[in-house]
Amino acid sequence: MLTGGCYCGLVRYQAEGSASHLVNCHCSICRRTSGAPFVSWFTVPRTAFQFTQGTPTQFKSTEQGLRCFCPDCGTQLSFQHVDTPDEIDLTICSLDNPESLPPEKHIHMESKLSWISLADGLAGTSEANSEE
Ligand SMILES: [Zn+2]
Ligand SMILES: [Zn+2]
Repeated sequence: MLTGGCYCGLVRYQAEGSASHLVNCHCSICRRTSGAPFVSWFTVPRTAFQFTQGTPTQFKSTEQGLRCFCPDCGTQLSFQHVDTPDEIDLTICSLDNPESLPPEKHIHMESKLSWISLADGLAGTSEANSEE
């Protein structure tokens, strides 16, 4: 069982099953909606996920993308894409134990900030067709 929530504790979630697609996303939308140079995500089946406390604010970041945030403290929690309704992405760093899911690759490297110097040895892709 994976559990997590926002910084202030208002919104909590849990996910069962195995996490996949462990990535650091450098796309400009993740960057601007978080105020951070990149955002780390994992994916679980939508049916394995639920918010267990609080009601997050939903924001359509693009025509296809829906992001959830804590309405009080602003922590970004989830991402859903209309093309993959059976999946939900969650921010690794909103987990109670982010050490449990280390990212496996970098995506949207075409948008990576020049002053970010990666030294983790992970592969990077552009993934221009999976815009978040
Ligand atoms: Zn909060
Ligand atoms: Zn992104």
